[in-house]
Amino acid sequence: MNPKLLFWVPAALRMVLALLGVGVVWYLLGATYALGIAFVLMAMMVFVQLSYLFQLSNWLDNPQSAKLPDGWGAWTSIFARLYRMRRDDEKNQAELTEWLARFRQAMHLLPDGVVIMDDVLFLEWCNPAAEKHLGLTHERDKGMRVTNLIRSPEFMDYIILGRYDQPLTITFRNRKLIVQIIPFENRRQILVTHDVTETERIEMMRRDFIANASHELRTPLTVIVGFLEIASAELDLDAATRAAHLKLMTEQGHRMQHLIEDMLTLSRLESVDYPLRPEPVDIKKLMQQVLRDAKALSAGKHDVRMECNGPDVLGSYDELYSAFGNLASNAVRYTPAGGSITLRWQDGPAGPQFIAQDTGIGISPEHISRLTERFYRVDKSRSRETQGTGLGLAIVKHVLLRHGGTLAIQSVADKGSSFIVSMPKSVVTPLQGELLVK
Ligand code: ADP
Repeated sequence: MNPKLLFWVPAALRMVLALLGVGVVWYLLGATYALGIAFVLMAMMVFVQLSYLFQLSNWLDNPQSAKLPDGWGAWTSIFARLYRMRRDDEKNQAELTEWLARFRQAMHLLPDGVVIMDDVLFLEWCNPAAEKHLGLTHERDKGMRVTNLIRSPEFMDYIILGRYDQPLTITFRNRKLIVQIIPFENRRQILVTHDVTETERIEMMRRDFIANASHELRTPLTVIVGFLEIASAELDLDAATRAAHLKLMTEQGHRMQHLIEDMLTLSRLESVDYPLRPEPVDIKKLMQQVLRDAKALSAGKHDVRMECNGPDVLGSYDELYSAFGNLASNAVRYTPAGGSITLRWQDGPAGPQFIAQDTGIGISPEHISRLTERFYRVDKSRSRETQGTGLGLAIVKHVLLRHGGTLAIQSVADKGSSFIVSMPKSVVTPLQGELLVK
C-alpha cells in the first residue's frame, strides 16, 4: 500500500473509534463522563507521543548504543524505517571499511610507488613502495610539498613544464625511476613511480657482454684473416713460414672455439629451461679426471698433487667437472713453472669442500670481489698469454649457484691463491655419508 495511506488510514480509524467510544459514553452516561474520558484519552495520547519523541531524540543523539522501541500506531512504521536505514548504513559502512582495507593491502603490495597529492602538490598519502623509491615517510611528510621532498632538477622541470602525458626517467637516491603524474578528480594528482634500476643493470650487463664477446672474437679473427690475406697475396711463401702461420691460425681458431664453448656453457647454466637433474657423482673418478687435465696442461712444469678424502655427492657430473676443472686450470695457468698446485676434496662440518691451491702469481684484494664477472681479468695481456676466455670463474659461480655451493677466494699477490668451493651437506649421497645426511 502507498506509505501515505498506510500512515493516515490507521490514524483516522483510531480517531473514529475514539470518537465513537466517547459518543457512546455521552449517550449512556452523559456529557460530563464523556468529556472526562475524552480528556483522559487526549492526555494519554499526548503522553505517548511525547515519550516516543523523547526516545527518538535520545536515539538520534546516540544511534549506536540506544535501542529504538517497537512503537505504537504510526510510530511503529517510523521506528521500523529508521531501524532499517541504520542497518543499511551499518552494512554499507562495513563494506566500505572492507574495501578500504583491501585497497590498502593492494597498495602495500604494489611494487610501484603511488603518491596522492592535492592540486598544489601537497602530499596526502603514499604507499610503502613510494616511501622506498623516494625516501618518503608518510607520517613525517604528510602535508609537505612534493617538490621539497623530491629534490631533482629533472623532476622540477617536469613539474614546471607540466607535460604529464609523458613519463619521466630520473636518477634519484641511486635508483633509476620512471615517474609520471596523473591528474584525477578535480583537485587531486597521483604520482606513480616505477623502479627500473634492476632492468637497467641487466640491460647494461647484456650490452657489456655483447661488446666484450665481440671484442674477444674479433682479436683471433683479425689474426686469422691477416694470415689468410698474406697467404693469398704471397703465393710463394716458404714452407717454414706457412707452417708457422698455420700454427698461429690453428691456435687462434682453438681460442675462438673455447670462447664459444664457454659462452654456450654459461648460457645453458643460466637457462631456466635447463634445470639441474641431480645424479650420484663418483667424486674419485671426477678428481682423477681433473688431475689428469691439470697435469696435461702443466706439461710437467709444476708439481701437481691431489688429495681426495670427501664423500660422493648428488649433482651434475659434467657441471662439477667443468667448475673444478676451471679452477684447476686457472691454478696451473697462473702459477709460474716450478710452482706447486694441490687439488683437494675433503669433508668438513658444514659439508664437503673442493680446494684448488697454488703458489702462483696471486691476486690483489681489490680484484677479488669482481673475479666472477664475465670477462673480468686482473691482467688482460697475461690472460691472453695463458689462453683464458675470461669466463671460467663465471661458469664456476653459476655451477655452484645451481648446486647450492659457494666460492671463497683467499689470495696473496706473488704468493699464491686458494679457491675454496663449499658444498652444502644436503648434496652428500646417503650411502656415503650417513652421518652427514640431514
Ligand atoms: P680466464 O679465462 O681469464 O682465466 P677466469 O674467469 O677463469 O678467466 O678468471 C678471471 C681472472 O681471475 C683471470 O683473468 C685471472 O686474472 C684471475 N685468476 C683466476 N684464477 C687465478 C689464480 N689461481 N691465480 C691468480 N689469478 C687468478
